[in-house]
Amino acid sequence: MAFEDKTLKCKDCGKDFVFTTGEQQFYAEKGFENEPVRCKDCRDVRKRGRDGGAPAGPREMYDAVCAQCGAETQVPFKPRNDRPILCRDCFTSNR
Ligand SMILES: [Zn+2]
Ligand SMILES: [Zn+2]
Repeated sequence: MAFEDKTLKCKDCGKDFVFTTGEQQFYAEKGFENEPVRCKDCRDVRKRGRDGGAPAGPREMYDAVCAQCGAETQVPFKPRNDRPILCRDCFTSNR
């Protein structure tokens, strides 16, 4: 199977990059079935970001008031006015 340089579009930065014959051969040898989706720059950035990235903090909870019984409750998303918040009790009994 002959390899040819391929131009692919990076998923992250949108720039074209070349998937070279050497890389294609490497991928084939490793048995990778997918073509790379990121250019080398973005791949490097991701590699570096993996150990320097910000840890996922605890989930933020928002105070809300139950639209049905008026009890204070907490929800894992920002309460919006167009969507009534129900406390756990009302939510459960509403179903
Ligand atoms: Zn890129
Ligand atoms: Zn309630």
